[in-house]
Amino acid sequence: MEIKIQSTENSKIANVDFNNLSFGSIFTDHMFVCDFEDGAWKNPSIVPYGPIAFEPSARVFHYGQAVFEGMKAYKDDQDDIFLFRPDESVKRLNTSAARLAIPVLPEEIFHEGLKKLLQVDTEWIKKGFGNSLYIRPFIIATDGAIAASPAIKYKFIIICSPAQSYYAGEVRVIVAEKYSRSANGGVGYAKAAGNYAAQFYPTSLANKEGYQQVIWTDADTHEYLEEAGTMNVFFRIGDKLVTAPTSDRILDGITRKSIIQLAKDHNVTVEVRDVSVKEIKEAASNGSLKEIFGSGTAAVINPIKGFKHQDFVYELPEVADAYATFFKDKLLNIQYNKEVDLHNWRVKVS
Ligand SMILES: *Cc1c(COP(=O)(O)O)cnc(C)c1O
Repeated sequence: MEIKIQSTENSKIANVDFNNLSFGSIFTDHMFVCDFEDGAWKNPSIVPYGPIAFEPSARVFHYGQAVFEGMKAYKDDQDDIFLFRPDESVKRLNTSAARLAIPVLPEEIFHEGLKKLLQVDTEWIKKGFGNSLYIRPFIIATDGAIAASPAIKYKFIIICSPAQSYYAGEVRVIVAEKYSRSANGGVGYAKAAGNYAAQFYPTSLANKEGYQQVIWTDADTHEYLEEAGTMNVFFRIGDKLVTAPTSDRILDGITRKSIIQLAKDHNVTVEVRDVSVKEIKEAASNGSLKEIFGSGTAAVINPIKGFKHQDFVYELPEVADAYATFFKDKLLNIQYNKEVDLHNWRVKVS
């Protein structure tokens, strides 16, 4: 596969303060672009990062045919660049694409395009624990036509944003009783752009009450806990870890499945099963609920300090030896090439 490269003439890198980055607001000098036209993916190229023109009738603007991924690249002390489980990301991108009637993207285009882009923008990946490059691959429907049917033209684009360790601040959550992020037979398992748009309003209502996020419950009964904001969610009851099984409503998070594996590796009992609101409230009342945390690529693990459900408000106690800290450190050490990687999750970009 041949990737055309058009390098920028004005690198922005000298103007970036890498010690003061706000998440996802600065982008590297280049992006990878590939078009789907006449039934095939073509013209893979790397071009300077910048605006792209589309007709106002481009279908993505009207029908939301858009899917994305979120990944990170890390650099170790030897200047080697690593990705974390990139095969999982490309598979999931295609799972999401299939659900939105977007044509399958050959895995080679994803892997080769990303690798080339990381090589071209390698200066943007800073060494040192906590530094990383956030990677956002996405596909959008670009042909100008507002008939309500799948597009015949698409663009696959990868953009990258330098990041420092992400801390969302103290997070308290409201358990959803009215709104849902996904439904049976819906698109909850896909990284569809519209899933995020649909969360913004209910989340803003939670914000007004002083809560940062919503724990989403099953759309049918609102009795089972499914995800926390845009993260998968884990509960520690006593010494055991519990998380909901993936389904068509729950996103199959790569961080989630890595934590489940690490728990097994370290003899922590982990139960993948439905978790009811009732069970968590009872565990809170009898003191056995020790931790709640969200998992996802951006923050890795984000502890949740408290939750509210109807009139029940609960503040989690501080725990010594928190699982959140333990598993976050384990994952980061694997990602930064500081610890053996039993499962070959770390992939060197060479
Ligand atoms: C991306 C995402 C996650 C986390 O997935 P990771 O692969 O761990 O980054 C969890 N829930 C939702 C809804 C997501 O979109």
